[in-house]
Amino acid sequence: MTARGRAGIAMVCIVHAWQAVMITENLETVVAEIAAEMAKRPDRGAVAHYIPELARVGPHAFGIAVIDADGNVFAGGDADVPFSIQSISKVFTLTLALGKIGDRLWRRVGREPSGSPFNSIVQLERECGVPRNPFINAGAIAVTDAILSGHQPREALGEILRFMQFLAADPTIAIDEAVAASEQRTGFRNIALANYMKSFGVLENPVEFTLGVYFHHCAIAMSCRQLAMAGRFLAHSGRNPSTGHSVVSPQRARRINALMLTCGHYDGSGEFAYRVGLPGKSGVGGGVLAIAPGKASIAVWSPGLDPSGNSHLGRLALEGLAKRMGWSIFGV
Ligand code: GLU
Repeated sequence: MTARGRAGIAMVCIVHAWQAVMITENLETVVAEIAAEMAKRPDRGAVAHYIPELARVGPHAFGIAVIDADGNVFAGGDADVPFSIQSISKVFTLTLALGKIGDRLWRRVGREPSGSPFNSIVQLERECGVPRNPFINAGAIAVTDAILSGHQPREALGEILRFMQFLAADPTIAIDEAVAASEQRTGFRNIALANYMKSFGVLENPVEFTLGVYFHHCAIAMSCRQLAMAGRFLAHSGRNPSTGHSVVSPQRARRINALMLTCGHYDGSGEFAYRVGLPGKSGVGGGVLAIAPGKASIAVWSPGLDPSGNSHLGRLALEGLAKRMGWSIFGV
């Protein structure tokens, strides 16, 4: 190679390195500004009341954590305060169930957006007890049942919890027993959904066992920082880029992201795709895990919900982040 060629390559490398530094600095500023902006907003949505223990959480918290491809963490607000991840756990139970029984899972649960509320029972009757997708409550209960088969509830729950601890590289992650007990006492709608599916033969295990595991994995408590860590494999083709651990194949990561995009926000999924343009999964605890493929794993938390049961400020924060970073998968 000529001296001029070598100089050209060196120049390109310097420009790339400089761009990387600029992007990193930019992300740091953007995250800090979003956290400051969200802390000030008066509109905070309404905290979920149907699980009494969740209603005890005030609407004032806001946290955000973004982990880029190099493992840099950008955090703001209440990023280290644990909250109830609720339905965000469904991303991880889906991952485990696919690992356990592969595509046979799709005989018990569909892959279509429901367009219905998260706890709706109407579609189940029309569709013979087979839930529309793994992220509505009925679908997640069917997925939990698949993980449970062949195990005791305690073992299945232990496996789910250890998976979260492994992904987040944090053995302190635990289940909030008060939240689990609260939902177990009052989860009449989920009890109805599970019994209804059982009547169609969609569930293999005793309903109370499956629901016990389901309520407990929904009650896992994590901070935004821990959750963003746990989601990294989805942002990087199934692999944690820092440790090199391969969690799922690139194809499976792509498909889980596709389901998060189309079904991750219940009947607000279309609106979330329109405004944010990233695969995401919300929970009624007010958290959202969002994935910027190839770029970042993002967790936000604010307990106040919109009418579809998705975090109000969480969505606004992600909308601002995706727009300012140019991260929507549909382009700028
Ligand atoms: N444990 C909650 C339920 O089953 C999860 C709902 C959610 O987070 O959207 O109702």
